[in-house]
Amino acid sequence: MSFIDNLITNTIRADVRKANSYNVPDSSGYIKLDSMENPYQLPVELRAELGRRLADAALNRYPVPSYAALKRAICAKLGVPTGYDVILGNGSDELISIVAMATAHQDRRAVILAPVPAFVMYQRSAQFAGMDFVGVALKSDFSLDMPAMLAAIAEHKPAVLFLAYPNNPTGNLYDAADMAELIDALGDTGIAVVDEAYEPFARTSFMGHLEEFENLVVMRTLSKLGLAGIRLGYMSAAPALLAQFDKVRPPYNVNVLTQAAAEFALEHLDVLNKQAEQLNAARTELAAELAKLPGVEVYPSAANFLTFKVPNSEDACAKLTGAKVLVKNLGKMHELLANCVRVTVSTPEENAAFLTALKAALK
Ligand SMILES: *Cc1c(COP(=O)(O)O)cnc(C)c1O
Repeated sequence: MSFIDNLITNTIRADVRKANSYNVPDSSGYIKLDSMENPYQLPVELRAELGRRLADAALNRYPVPSYAALKRAICAKLGVPTGYDVILGNGSDELISIVAMATAHQDRRAVILAPVPAFVMYQRSAQFAGMDFVGVALKSDFSLDMPAMLAAIAEHKPAVLFLAYPNNPTGNLYDAADMAELIDALGDTGIAVVDEAYEPFARTSFMGHLEEFENLVVMRTLSKLGLAGIRLGYMSAAPALLAQFDKVRPPYNVNVLTQAAAEFALEHLDVLNKQAEQLNAARTELAAELAKLPGVEVYPSAANFLTFKVPNSEDACAKLTGAKVLVKNLGKMHELLANCVRVTVSTPEENAAFLTALKAALK
């Protein structure tokens, strides 16, 4: 064994040594429909104005860690109830890991629970924080298996339950009454994190339930709305609970360029919301087109992506990649997703190119 091999064996955790890095395929030259990005940029006039704003940002200074102006804008424009604040993350990915770090007890194995298939970062963050992850399978229509979820809550007393609303990678909204029942069942031994990454498309939210449930955290991101590149997530909860998470947050985790860009974008939220509406209309059209294809089953979606089943997802995705269209093959992720594919809804041109390539792939 070489020095470096010994060093790694002696210092790096066994589970980290065995893990893979989060895989993001190279997408240059591809129509990129694998990551739920908004295909539209801000209009050019706005981008010029944004450029001037960014030029004024004090790059020589650390960010002011209270982020007061940006937080005020988020609370005012994005429906955070009066009396509630937010904390900010370098994407909601960072907030997920902050939640895990703050709840990973050192004297016992704490549990993160989530219905599965779910967003992969819940499991990864649990693992790297030293927590146990318990996944409870959804029903075949991707709804919550309530008896199984309630039994898992009773058995494992999870510190955290993640519920993505709508869920990624299935696209559906869980029944809100079911979710409320689960949040209640956690009681004062578990925190429910409702991850609303796709709220700009779903237009329904648990933000209004914060007063009702003191163990509720509502998490969102600007990524899917059209600002994936700036990396900004936010979450709200009862002030005393939020203050605990804020202790774990790295003090300058949101940089000044992100801060300036987000403040600017929120001043022009109507532009982004219109893009989201356009994408919702495109989703309806694309779902109808997909449903017409023989052998294809499309699942209901409240997000900016569609999940659908084909006879052979491995083969279909390989052919789509060959046609320079990147989608996500979900087939190996979970047995409920056998032969499923996830496609981001995009511009009319890209959606048409995807459909053409898919039709050829299914021939
Ligand atoms: C995309 C996604 C996120 C991550 O968002 P970022 O803010 O870009 O880190 C979180 N949760 C779900 C369910 C997502 O699909």
